[in-house]
Amino acid sequence: MAQETIFEKILKKEISAAVVYEDDHVLAFKDIHPQAPVHVLVIPKTKAKNFSEMSRWAPNDTGEFVNRIGIVAEKLGLERQGYRVVFNCGEYGGQTVDYIHAHILGGKPLNISMA
Ligand code: 5GP
Repeated sequence: MAQETIFEKILKKEISAAVVYEDDHVLAFKDIHPQAPVHVLVIPKTKAKNFSEMSRWAPNDTGEFVNRIGIVAEKLGLERQGYRVVFNCGEYGGQTVDYIHAHILGGKPLNISMA
């Protein structure tokens, strides 16, 4: 069995996190090493390892997750000025935690560097 990730421990409240939103589908909490004034991670309560694995979900479930990411961004007050949503996938994508998570970044103009 795959080793439990830090995000599963956060989901189970075994490790604390600064939670900004929670419902039946997702948990959203502040990134411990923020890369922007607002940097929040959104994770689904149903595990997928990464974006590739999530793309094999039923479209309704994927849609539910994407919908919640938008709701969290709105609750963070980012809608008017804009924000970025990032999924790092796998080694070359820079993914360090094997539990899918969307990064929501905002609070300042972000540069467009891809690497
Ligand atoms: P990745 O590189 O996998 O896309 O992003 C993982 C993110 O999780 C990183 O931005 C990192 O700062 C964040 N992170 C890692 N461990 C913890 C933790 O224990 N608590 C919180 N809140 N964030 C974490």
